Amino acid sequence: MASIRFLGAAGTVTGSRFLVESGHARVLVDAGLFQGPKELRLRNRDRWPVDPASLTAVVLTHAHIDHTGALPLLAKQGYRGPVHATPATRDLLGLLLPDSGRLHEEEARWANQKGYSKHAPNAEPLYTEADAVAVLPRLAPLAYGRPRQVAPGITLTYHRAGHILGSATVLLELAGPPRRRLLFSGDLGRYGAPILPDPEGGPSADVLVVESTYGGKRHAEAPARDALRDEVRQAAARGGALLVPAFAIGRTQEVLFTLRELEGRGEIPELPVFVDSPMAVDATPIFLAHREDHDDEMARLFASGVEPLRPRRLTFARSPEQSKAINKVDGPCIIISASGMATGGRVLHHLARRLPDPRTTVLLVGFQAAGTRGWSLQNGAATVRMHGEDVPVKARVASITGFSAHADEAELSRWLATLPAPPQRTFLVHGEPTSLAAARERMARLGWPCEVPRHLETFELA
Ligand SMILES: [Zn+2]
Repeated sequence: MASIRFLGAAGTVTGSRFLVESGHARVLVDAGLFQGPKELRLRNRDRWPVDPASLTAVVLTHAHIDHTGALPLLAKQGYRGPVHATPATRDLLGLLLPDSGRLHEEEARWANQKGYSKHAPNAEPLYTEADAVAVLPRLAPLAYGRPRQVAPGITLTYHRAGHILGSATVLLELAGPPRRRLLFSGDLGRYGAPILPDPEGGPSADVLVVESTYGGKRHAEAPARDALRDEVRQAAARGGALLVPAFAIGRTQEVLFTLRELEGRGEIPELPVFVDSPMAVDATPIFLAHREDHDDEMARLFASGVEPLRPRRLTFARSPEQSKAINKVDGPCIIISASGMATGGRVLHHLARRLPDPRTTVLLVGFQAAGTRGWSLQNGAATVRMHGEDVPVKARVASITGFSAHADEAELSRWLATLPAPPQRTFLVHGEPTSLAAARERMARLGWPCEVPRHLETFELA
């Protein structure tokens, strides 16, 4: 018998973790954290519904924390086996997992100081930076397109997913009986996005587990490049800073790529550009090093001696002193700093310094979750609270929606059309109820039978 059990990302986007059992082998695809509302985050504290020590292998689709952030918990609860990942995913996790551990430690310290956990005066972090670092040696890199036996009778092959650097779809071939080919989409990226190649066509599969994050939704038609060009020109004309809160991994590099491209075409003035985030400073060389994750345009740029992620007047700020020095820059400049929703990080210092200045433009280039400072700014807040003070918003606030790492409805359909034949079974995961409903309608139009699993539901794959 073979089976699949949905330990997360069922009826919701985060907490990606799928258990595949065949013969005596147990393979876990992704080990993600639940994020968002508290009732979901509390699941991170539950004991694993399967004994981690009994797992044969863990296989990752990509480095995002909602797909990998539970690895330290698995290890703490007894998992001692390998964690298969693409080489770029392995490198990115070297930054992301320890950072996740630090954030959990900070959260616990804060809870204890504020005493809001009075029933549990000694709030324990979910895991620590040391727990996260301890997991890194388990990562076993595997290149795209190279089959590897990860458990007796189970072979893994990665194909490019185009979502973030190192992202992959996962094909698990079960030798059986029964013989089965299981394909996990992971998160799928966009067609024609900078830096990364398009999602690779899917291999044939009997069972498909496909994401639905943007099920039924369409991204903006206008290219992000044109919108960024217009914002840079406007900011230069206003004589102030263009302040871009951006995720350190992915969005920062896309913005750098696009600025360099616009400068190269003479479409924007060459302004001083500052990247002020230690993680972005460390991640950028990883983006440059993994040529296997580059599209043809990146390869062409390297071949012609162009550094693809380097606008002319770029400065990386690593130390706090380098960060503070940016405060003295008074004329037009571009500051890219994390976090992307202004929930923390160095971008707060820049917002505190620049928001009261009417010459400033704050440019939001990513999704802003409700309740974050980025969301408040996007919704026209007159002040935002930072470091215990209400900072007046005199700056212009603009948003670009064209940068996204997720395939929209049309792109999901385009990828599904690459599968050589409809799978016998399709499971829809990684979606909120409305996206899942839209995805279900699409599958009905395609005539593909599909199911929407519930949390912890098991399906026999006879
Ligand atoms: Zn992702």
